[in-house]
Amino acid sequence: MKSDSFNPFAMAQQQFDKAAEFLNLDSGTRELLRWPLREYQFSIPVRMDDGKTKIFRGFRVQHNDARGPSKGGIRFHPQETVDTVRALSMWMTWKCSVVNIPLGGGKGGVICDPHNLSQHEQQQICRGWIRQLWRNVGPLADVPAPDVMTNAQHMLWMLDEYEAIVGEKSPGLITGKPVGMGGSLGRTEATGYGVMYTVREALKLMNVKPENTTAAFQGFGNVSQYALQLYQRMGGHAICVSCWDQKDQTSYTYRKMSGISFDELMSIVDRFGGIDKTKAKDLGYEILPGGAWIEQDVDILVPAAIENQVTAETVQKISKKVRIVAEGANGPTTPEADKVFEDRGVFMIPDFLANAGGVTCSYFEQVQSNMNYFWEKDEVLGKLDIKMTSAFSDVSDLAKKKKLYMRDAAYMIAVSRVAQACRDRGWV
Ligand code: NAD
Repeated sequence: MKSDSFNPFAMAQQQFDKAAEFLNLDSGTRELLRWPLREYQFSIPVRMDDGKTKIFRGFRVQHNDARGPSKGGIRFHPQETVDTVRALSMWMTWKCSVVNIPLGGGKGGVICDPHNLSQHEQQQICRGWIRQLWRNVGPLADVPAPDVMTNAQHMLWMLDEYEAIVGEKSPGLITGKPVGMGGSLGRTEATGYGVMYTVREALKLMNVKPENTTAAFQGFGNVSQYALQLYQRMGGHAICVSCWDQKDQTSYTYRKMSGISFDELMSIVDRFGGIDKTKAKDLGYEILPGGAWIEQDVDILVPAAIENQVTAETVQKISKKVRIVAEGANGPTTPEADKVFEDRGVFMIPDFLANAGGVTCSYFEQVQSNMNYFWEKDEVLGKLDIKMTSAFSDVSDLAKKKKLYMRDAAYMIAVSRVAQACRDRGWV
């Protein structure tokens, strides 16, 4: 994401331009949606543990809030750039729109590496971020959440600072809070289950029963774990997962042709989604090179690890048997590989639809926090299923009607809803 030759914002704008072309958007709407509505860049002074003051650079980008308050995570990353934050905020706008929740898109960040910061220093960064931005965020304006290298503790520090400044409790300011401190039940499962709700619907369209299918997963972190759990509950046969080995600094694929078990793998996975090789071997898993997951003779591929995994080169290794690709990760498929899928007639469930279960559940957290009332887990997951299923139907119906590739249909729906909201408000 960070190399000089790759600018994620340029890519996000290209994707938007394609959708704008399909939709024949007028030039004013195009210009408005190609850029963020608002951007904040600021300095956060922090008194470090050694007594010296260090200045950290912070960002918040609100791409569009025509459909509701901006929503999106805050990343802590040493190579954070404003263009990465811009791109991610634009993708949040489309994600919230495609699942039809009343939110816009935002993203934030701080250039820092939490690995090299004490808890006290991290707390000062969180409080400083809010001190710079409290006038511009809020339950009815912009609702942040955790993202890369930020967690529930960071969110609580931010919430506490905000509440101290505004002088009242305001749990709807931020999501990703711990359960018991305003967090929603079901958030842990939400993204992975959301991926599988869409796969279930795709299988229904194909008249295929899940129990007659096989699948390969890349990643065994939060998204992949729960996607795999639900797939097994639906009767599907997962045959492998691929994940990163921290010690060897490489990835491996863990395969059992007779079917892998969620419970078994959960007993040997660490908190970063890495699997213990020795224990896996003892449990009868074959250990193959990391890229082997993509070459399996399966019906469904679930890339749910990191971006840029299905490329012009790796796509050639994919079995002709594969009928569905469900993108759990953000941006796992390059445009070249995507073209191959489209030409082969593979049923693509694109990232901002497939993995929208996370933001949908965050929206539910916001609603519960604003009401100061909490739903049971079954209620949260039931509502999530309804939202994901309905978003899937909107996209697949349009794809069928206009003979479009699923990714293009998803973009058309997402962009047209935001463009309509801008027109309805009289902005364009
Ligand atoms: P995670 O950190 O919990 O897990 C990541 C997994 O990917 C781990 O199992 C890790 O070992 C594996 N991995 C990393 N590099 C790999 C490689 N080169 N080859 C094979 N495996 C590799 O992350 P997560 O929360 O599960 O997120 C996964 C993806 O989904 C990311 O792209 C993230 O942006 C996206 N996403 C996550 C959520 C969410 O709610 N967690 C929501 C939307 C999108």
